[in-house]
Amino acid sequence: MKAIRGRLLTYRPAPVHEEDGLILVSGGKITAVGPASELIPDLPSDIQIEDHSGKLILPGFIDLHIHLPQTRVIASYGAQLMEWLERYTFAEEARYADPAVAEDGAQFFLDELFRNGTTTAVVYGSVHPQSVEALFTESAKRGAAMIAGKVMMDRGAPDALRDTARSSYDHSKALIKRWHGRDRQRYAVTPRFAITSTPAQLEAAGTLLAEHPGVYLQTHLSENQAEIDLARSLFPGAEDYAGIYESFGLLGSRSLLGHCLHLSPREQERLAETRSVAVLCPTSNLFLGSGLADRGALNANGIRTGLGTDVGAGTSYSMLRTAAEAYKVEQLRGRSLPAHDAFRWITRGNAEALGLGDEIGSIEVGRYADLVVLDSSATPAMAHRMERCESLEEELFVLLTLGDDRAVAATYVQGVGRNSHGSL
Ligand SMILES: [Zn+2]
Repeated sequence: MKAIRGRLLTYRPAPVHEEDGLILVSGGKITAVGPASELIPDLPSDIQIEDHSGKLILPGFIDLHIHLPQTRVIASYGAQLMEWLERYTFAEEARYADPAVAEDGAQFFLDELFRNGTTTAVVYGSVHPQSVEALFTESAKRGAAMIAGKVMMDRGAPDALRDTARSSYDHSKALIKRWHGRDRQRYAVTPRFAITSTPAQLEAAGTLLAEHPGVYLQTHLSENQAEIDLARSLFPGAEDYAGIYESFGLLGSRSLLGHCLHLSPREQERLAETRSVAVLCPTSNLFLGSGLADRGALNANGIRTGLGTDVGAGTSYSMLRTAAEAYKVEQLRGRSLPAHDAFRWITRGNAEALGLGDEIGSIEVGRYADLVVLDSSATPAMAHRMERCESLEEELFVLLTLGDDRAVAATYVQGVGRNSHGSL
């Protein structure tokens, strides 16, 4: 057993804040949480207390959309979606055929997520099964909960990155068998998007979902006008872009659809009806000039929304930076994103989007002790700004607007300190 002390903040769904709180951890899970003054007297005298007094402790952040093989694609200049894929992304993803590259990539990737306070992510591998094998192996070693899938792509990509409907089915099925539900790993069937899959491959994806009811589905939907036009021309029989996925049984409550920027009213109705999740990726959308998500309209139309970085088109691994860009997109839409709403979204909100609210995303007894410790005065500019801070809400907004990996003092996965620049 160990104890972690600090300023606790979680969402139930209203914010619950304990200025001097204590979390007890045993077997990777939270066994008690409350005011330090109440819990400390009953602790065994030899218990180890990791003291973060003065710093905020929140549930670890959850990233609903990120690409493992794009850690060396991030910050590639000057292109919109289709050209960006061809000019930068496909060449780098091809390197993941080499298991050594995949292993090295998976280690860097998880180090970087933890450095940014992200403890669970939904991850696209490359087309090679060994990319997902490497990620799950490393994640299981570190005790983390990751959701990932091998990209399915049998057209519209270079030869080296193409599988077939049959091989993508076989390889995905083998990975599901080996990894789905093992430790904390879960599988996501991952057709990249309609443009890079034949009807036969989308049908195979639908079959995988039907055969394995607990797995997720991740793909991209309605990111960029050229992409939408091409998808429509490749599937002339479909009513619209979302209709392509629906016709193959790919919409549903475990379906995570990246971007969803230019949906028609009918498409929005289909997403709401099927309880599919629209995963918004603001840094990516601004970087590639794809458009501004309309979160207000999506929510008003009953669509569940999540938030993701979309690294490498996204420009930061930090969910703080990602939520800060979501705030700016809301401003351009004439709305706002209060700080508590943003922090709720990247913790409990994203956990609920995954249907995992009873495991992660909040600091409550029985949940995994996946935690992030935040220092609101981590940089000179933040410390200077904090001299005029008068409330928790204001402090959270400073963290969002000025914070990044430097504000992450520690990251815990199952109660074990996992970041490289903390003292743990
Ligand atoms: Zn993406």
